[in-house]
This record gives sequence, structure tokens and C-alpha cells, in this order.
Amino acid sequence: MTDYVQPLKDMLFNIHELSALDRVLQLERFADFDKDVVDQVVEEAGKFAAEVLSPLNIPGDEIGCKVVDNGVVAPPGFAEAYGQFVENGWQSLEVSPEFDGMGMPGGAGAAAGEAWQSANMSFMLAPMLTNGAMYAIDAHGSDEIRSTYIPKMANGAWTGTMNLTESQAGSDLSVVTTRAVPEGDHYRISGSKIFITWGDQDFSENIIHLVLARLPDAPDGVRGISLFIVPKFLLNDDGSAGERNDVYTPSIEHKLGVHGSATCVMSFGENDGAIGYLLGEENKGLAGMFTMMNHARLGVGLQGVAISDRAYQLARSHALDRKQGGAPGEKGSVTIIHHPDVRRMLLVMKSQIEAMRAAAYYTAGQQDLAMYSDNDEERAAALSRVALLTPVIKTWPTELAQEITSLGVQIHGGMGFVEETGAAQHMRDARILPIYEGTTGIQALDFVGRKIMADEGKAMGDLIADIRSLDLGLAVDERTAEIRVALIDGVDQMGSATTWLIEQGPLDPNTAGSASVNLLMLAGIVVGGWQMARAALAIVNGASSDDPSFAEAKLQTVRFYAQHIMPRARGLADAAMAGAETVMGMPEESF
Ligand SMILES: Cc1cc2nc3c(=O)[nH]c(=O)nc-3n(C[C@H](O)[C@H](O)[C@H](O)COP(=O)(O)OP(=O)(O)OC[C@H]3O[C@@H](n4cnc5c(N)ncnc54)[C@H](O)[C@@H]3O)c2cc1C
Repeated sequence: MTDYVQPLKDMLFNIHELSALDRVLQLERFADFDKDVVDQVVEEAGKFAAEVLSPLNIPGDEIGCKVVDNGVVAPPGFAEAYGQFVENGWQSLEVSPEFDGMGMPGGAGAAAGEAWQSANMSFMLAPMLTNGAMYAIDAHGSDEIRSTYIPKMANGAWTGTMNLTESQAGSDLSVVTTRAVPEGDHYRISGSKIFITWGDQDFSENIIHLVLARLPDAPDGVRGISLFIVPKFLLNDDGSAGERNDVYTPSIEHKLGVHGSATCVMSFGENDGAIGYLLGEENKGLAGMFTMMNHARLGVGLQGVAISDRAYQLARSHALDRKQGGAPGEKGSVTIIHHPDVRRMLLVMKSQIEAMRAAAYYTAGQQDLAMYSDNDEERAAALSRVALLTPVIKTWPTELAQEITSLGVQIHGGMGFVEETGAAQHMRDARILPIYEGTTGIQALDFVGRKIMADEGKAMGDLIADIRSLDLGLAVDERTAEIRVALIDGVDQMGSATTWLIEQGPLDPNTAGSASVNLLMLAGIVVGGWQMARAALAIVNGASSDDPSFAEAKLQTVRFYAQHIMPRARGLADAAMAGAETVMGMPEESF
């Protein structure tokens, strides 16, 4: 069993070289920081991950949560770890100084988040959702609401949850039926939600539920959905947590993975009706929830990177330790890392993890520019880039986490299939990632519809132009020659598929839906390849020259990605451009 080891060098390399840190640190919002502070914070976050969160990962999986008297009891050690997490100020890492937060750059937040998620994804779901809830309250709440809730959530005294799903309303939120009836300055909420992550626990003083519900006279569909703040404990006049609100957790789900987190059935208003407060405007609740979801989507993408890296660490240790078979030039039994196929599997894992990490940290840097740049043009360009990449970063790493955690099991052989190595837990935990926060299918529809076709490929065209602009740099040094060729081919595929979609998509209503996931994965591979090529270029230009073994390994990893992963782009483009005929032509009875 391997403890969590933070990939600190690669994290810092990505933050420094690929997340626009130099530019971000020039912005007024980040005036108090320099690179050394960023590095120290990331390293400290890694220590917390390794020393406090990682030891609780397997016990959390084995023991899980339980419901006692309509309330959830978290696995042993979680409450103490949460106490330490908030005492260290980690919950406020990226929160604005306006609310006493640290206000660190997104690259640092991404690296810290990756370390914590890698160490214990179940635990980290609570802080991740609290962050998303804070963003939604900040973006849509009045000054009074913001000052009432955000400081206590930022310091971790209170957590936040996201209550969207009902049994008949999963991907399709237009059919939400939870009711909200106006009563004076508040509303009475009644209804039942399912699958609510950390909907209850015993480690924070209060829980702030954000709940989608419908007013009695609301129009049908998504135009009739409103968003409410429903605290577990109502607030006293001095803002402290007081009387219990009418919201309970009668049961939790038995599930495939993330056993350490509670997935709750939530019952609102079984007695008098839970008291809730409107967030934003009546009937415009989905916009508020999207603020939360977009934040959480990038966070879930990072979970994909994190769980993949944890699986890789375990597989690497096993490959360096397990002896089996012989190898040319070696006497007797050799460790399995001698075998070409084991090396191939490890490199498929490593190279894709580094590509995903690079793309996620790049996007976090763009997010900072989108929110805080003082230059209108820069802000608009970054905003457009983040919007385009959000479904890609949610989906591509979480889908790859299936391949990577499965390879982690494979490298362990039979020992991977039994629970005691821990490889199986990573595979089970990873399985939720392409499902929650919008399934892969739903993200892909957003990508082809709102992000490509709606602006006739403008944002995608800007991305393609940026990728192509790297060509000149890659052409200069022979060490990047084959990376250059692979990137040109990948971006050509992405360009052709985008043009095809814009021409063919409007002609048949099923075309975009049939091509969508292939297009999204194609974009992920090429964006990952682009970031890997940027990494290679940075190395060739002298980055990490004080650490030649890291620099050499990075170049070799990028070359592997160019040779083994980039060719997948061509297959995905071909499949996407095959159109809808074979997908839709099969009669239902033939399935
Ligand atoms: C462990 C766990 C934690 C969760 N945490 C939360 C939480 O904190 N808060 C919360 O509100 N919810 C939460 N969820 C719910 C989660 O977000 C939903 O399960 C998810 O959105 C999918 O909805 P569904 O399960 O109803 O599947 P469905 O919507 O029934 O989808 C089934 C399949 O059909 C596909 N599909 C559906 N509609 C379309 C379409 N229009 N086009 C193409 N394909 C489509 C989907 O991609 C999927 O493959 C959680 C779920 C789990 C299991």
C-alpha cells in the first residue's frame, strides 16, 4: 500500500510555465503574492494531503457513513481532519480577501485541490461543494446575504451543498417538482431530493443547502425554477446557528465508490415546511445554479486528474517491486517494470495525467484572467476560453480516469482485482466522475451546441489559432520535431471536425448529438497535446535546467504522448464525421 506522494515538481512546473502565473501575479487582486508564496502554499497543501487526508482514505472506504436519528455520522477521523483543514485556513484558499479569504491564484488552488482530492476524494467533496455554493451566493446574493453566509463558509464553520436532483429530474432539471411557497420575507420549501453529496454530516456547525424549487405559479420547464438558501439550522439574530430547520436525511445510498462520503436522500418540509431564502430572482434559479455547477465542473475535472495520479503512484510502486518473468540481458526473475507492455501502460497513465494536469492548471489561470484582469480584451478572451474549455475539462479527465484507474488495476494483475492493494478502490471511486455534475453526454451537448455551433465556431477558431501559433517555436529545435508533427495533425483533425459540425449540424437534428462525445474527447486530446507541447518548448528553452532528470523525463513523456496518444485524435475525428445515420438508423427492437 503506498501513501500519497505529492507530484510537487510537476505541479510547480505547470503552475509556473503554463498557467500564465507571471501575468496573473501582475493583477491587483494578487498583488500580495509572489512565486515563492505560491510554491510554499502548494507544498504545505501537499503535506496536509499526505499526512492528514491520505491515512483516512481506506478506512473511509471500508467503514463509510451511517445514518443515526435522521442525521449522518461521517467515517472515523473525518471530523478531526475537517477541524484541522479549516483551522489551517484551507477552505478560504481562493476566497476573496473581502471575506477574509487568502485569495490565492487559481493555479495554486488547482494544485492544492488536486493534492487533497488525490489523497481523499470522499472527504474533499465537502470543501469542493462549499466553494461552489460560496461562488453562487457571491454572484447572486444581496450584500446582506453575502455577508451573512460567505464568511462562515469561507472559514469552514459552515459547509455548502447542491440540491438539484430528484428521482424524475436528473439530467433534465426542467421537471423539478420541489415546491417553494412565499411566506413573508422567506419561503416554505417542501419536497424530496436524492443523491445529495454530504447533504448531512457531523463535522460542521451548519450546512447551507442551495435548493432548486418551483413557486406555485411558476411557468413550466426551466423558466420556472428558482434557487433557495435552506440552512440546516436557522440563524439567530446575531448570525449564529440556532433552531433546527425542517430538512432531514432519512437515508443514504449504498454505492459503488466514494464510500467515505454520504450520498443523501433529503427530505424538505415533512413537518411545517423548511424555511428558505430566495437567491437571485424568482424563476431565474438555473442561472445561479450554473455559477455553482461551472465552478464544480472544473473541480470535478481536477478530481479526474487527482484520482488518476493516485492510481498511477500505486501502479508505479507495484511495477518497481513485483518480480515476474525474465528480460533480455537480465539474470533470473525481473521486476515487471522491465516488460515493454508494463512500461507502455505506465506511460499511457503518466503522459495523460501530465496532459490533463497541464490543461486544468492552464484553465485555472485563464479563470483568474477572466475574473480579475484590468484589460477588457484579455478578460473577454479568457472568459471565452474558460467557457469553451469547461465541458472539456469536466469530461476528458473524468473519462480518462476510467482508463487510467483500470490500467492501475491491470498493472497489479490479480492483486488489482482484490481490495487489499487499494487499486480497486481508485477504480470504484473514479466511476462517479463522468456521471455527476452533468454526465459526459450532457457536457458534450453543451460543447457542440452552446460552445461551438452557437457562435459558429468563433471560440473554437480562436483556440485553434492559438494552438497553431506554437508551430514556429516547435520548428526551431529538433527535440520537438515529432511533437510538432503530431500537434499539427491533431489540430488539423480538430479544425476539420469543427468545420464539418458547423456545416452539417444544422441540416439534421441528430448530427451534433451523434458526434458530440467524440468531438469533446478529440478536443481534450488536442488541448492536452497543446499544453504538453508548450511544456516541451519551455524545457527546450531552459525551464527546469537546474533539474536535468525532470527536464529529460518531461521531454520523453511529451514524446510518448505525441506518438501514442495524439493518433487517437484521427480516429475520433473520423467517427465524429461519420454522422448520425448508423447511430440513429438502428430500429429500437434491434438493440
Ligand atoms: C455519488 C453521487 C453524488 C451525487 N451528488 C449530487 C449532488 O450533490 N447534488 C445533486 O443535485 N445531484 C447529485 N448527484 C446526481 C447526479 O448529478 C445525477 O445522477 C446526474 O446528473 C445524472 O442524472 P440521472 O442519474 O438522473 O441520470 P439520467 O439523467 O437518467 O441519465 C441516464 C443516461 O442517459 C443520458 N442522457 C440523459 N439525457 C440525455 C440527453 N438529453 N442527451 C443525451 N444523453 C442523455 C445520460 O448521459 C446518462 O448516460 C449525485 C449522484 C451520485 C451517484
